[in-house]
Amino acid sequence: MQMTDLICQRILLKLSGEALMGGGDFGIDPAVIQRVSEEIMELVNAGIQIGLVIGGGNIFRGAGLAQGGFDRVRGDHMGMLATVMNSLAMQDALSRIDGDAVVFSALQMPDVCETFTARGARCALDEGKVAILAAGTGNPYFTTDSAASLRAVEIKADLMIKATKVNGVYSADPVKDPQAVFYPKLTYDRALAENLQVMDATAIVLCRDNEVPLRIMNINDPGALMRLMQGEEIGSLVV
Ligand code: UDP
Repeated sequence: MQMTDLICQRILLKLSGEALMGGGDFGIDPAVIQRVSEEIMELVNAGIQIGLVIGGGNIFRGAGLAQGGFDRVRGDHMGMLATVMNSLAMQDALSRIDGDAVVFSALQMPDVCETFTARGARCALDEGKVAILAAGTGNPYFTTDSAASLRAVEIKADLMIKATKVNGVYSADPVKDPQAVFYPKLTYDRALAENLQVMDATAIVLCRDNEVPLRIMNINDPGALMRLMQGEEIGSLVV
C-alpha cells in the first residue's frame, strides 16, 4: 500500500482503559490487547505514525476513589499510575509481535519508562516507533481524553481518534435510549452546546482551538482502524 492512499500520516489514538477489559469488569483481557496491538501494527507497517494514549478506567479512576473516601489528588495519582500499567501492557503486547514502542510518562519513573517530552515523542514517531503517552497530563483533575487532545496537539497529529465501545456520537446514550440519533459529522461547538458524550469539554476545546479533527469510533469493529485510514467513513467526525 502507498502512503498516498492513506488519509493520515500521524495520528493520536486514544483507547479508554475499559476498551482493554473485553467482557470483564476490571483489568486487561489478553485477547483484546493482542487484537488491538495487531491492528496498531497493521497501521505502523503501512507507514502511519501512532501516538497512543490509554486511559486507566479499567483499574482506577480518581473521581470514583474520591467517592469512596479517598483524597482526590491521591486518587488521581492512582488513576495516572493505572494508565502507566496499561501502557506497559500495550508495549509488551506490541513487542510480542515485533512492534517497537516507547512508553513516555508525564510522571517521572526512569526505571520503568521514558519521561515525556514532545520532542522525544516526535523523534520516536519519526523513527517509526509507536509512542505510548502514559500518565495522562501528569496533573490531577484531568482526564486521559484531555491528555490525548493535548498530546495530539503536541505531536502535531493529523487526526485524533477516540476508540470507544460505541459506534460514534449519538444524541443520547444508544445503550439506554433506542431512539438515539447517530451523528456522522458534527462541529466541536455542537458537541459542547448539546453536551454530547464525545469527550469532556476541556478535551474538545483543545482540539477545536488547535484544529485537530476528531474521529469517534468503535474499537470492537475489527479492521475498522485500517479501513478508516483508507478513507472509509467510519464512526463520527467532529470538526
Ligand atoms: N488522570 C489524572 N490526570 C490526567 C489523566 C488521568 O488525574 O491527566 C487520572 C484520573 O483519576 C482518571 C484516571 O487517571 O480518572 C484514569 O483516566 P481516565 O478516567 O481518563 O481513563 P479512561 O476513562 O479513558 O479509561
